[in-house]
Amino acid sequence: MVGVRIDLHTHSTESDGTDTPAELVATAIDAGLDVIALTDHDTTAGWAAAERAVRDRAGSGRFQVVPGAELSCSCPDGSGRKITVHLLAYLFDPNAPALAREQSRLRAERRERLYEMARHMAGDGFPVDPDAIMAGLPPDSPGGRPHLARALVNAGTVASVDEAFAKYLGGRGRYYLPRTDTPVHRAIEMIAEAGGVTVLAHPFATARGPVVTADVIADLTGRGLSGIEIDHPDHDPETRARLRGLAVELDLITTGSSDYHGTNKTIRIGQETTPPDSLDRLIERSSGSAVIG
Ligand code: AMP
Ligand code: ZN
Ligand code: FE
Ligand code: FE
Repeated sequence: MVGVRIDLHTHSTESDGTDTPAELVATAIDAGLDVIALTDHDTTAGWAAAERAVRDRAGSGRFQVVPGAELSCSCPDGSGRKITVHLLAYLFDPNAPALAREQSRLRAERRERLYEMARHMAGDGFPVDPDAIMAGLPPDSPGGRPHLARALVNAGTVASVDEAFAKYLGGRGRYYLPRTDTPVHRAIEMIAEAGGVTVLAHPFATARGPVVTADVIADLTGRGLSGIEIDHPDHDPETRARLRGLAVELDLITTGSSDYHGTNKTIRIGQETTPPDSLDRLIERSSGSAVIG
């Protein structure tokens, strides 16, 4: 696997990315990647289309997709408060009952939340149509704030998705609504029960909001967390160095990923990558679903 380029965190139109799963596979191949993980928020609906896209390319070089998902979880921050952390889950059985039920609950809640946020903005005179936003989503998919941000861009209210978050939709924004996230210990347990492995996404991305302490990461490791995402666009060099020290101390698998969302973010796919031996270790620890391709 030496020289293999791996990006273990991407989003498709099944959640809040702008590439369909098939387009995502094509984009990744064009970018010179050999492996991507498809990690849509709270859904595995894109796995089948990604698998078809990989199969359609048979004979024109090996390309693999690691099936995955990203879960928003509530987590003690280490100083008495609860905050949101993101867990990346890989190689789990998508039909494991507890996890499938929780993902379904989260998708329904996300759609209601998106509708309410849009309704609130429309009520205040913003040129967004809640029903049109919902109609633009695939059935049973999780809506997210980027969908509302995109509607605001299309209406000319803001120039970019980032501006929509900064002005209206961020955690302290006027139109922000919270979700009932899964408690992180339970999430790790459900993913393990489904044969999957977990990696804490962008653990020290302070620009997004409050983050956990190193002690919390140690606690999560004791409960079965397998790795941490270190090379992520939201981590500066000092943060990466701190996380690398922590990974050595706790014997955590280290990953790097772009968190590509298509045109909803300015990040390029493959901008950050994962060492091949890290992927090998994640595969070794999993038993729920195989790598596609
Ligand atoms: P939600 O899932 O509805 O809570 O929205 C969070 C999603 O929006 C995540 O996928 C983030 O990557 C994305 N996001 C968060 N902050 C920003 C931002 N400032 N600009 C663009 N996308 C963002
Ligand atoms: Zn997202
Ligand atoms: Fe995330
Ligand atoms: Fe993400």
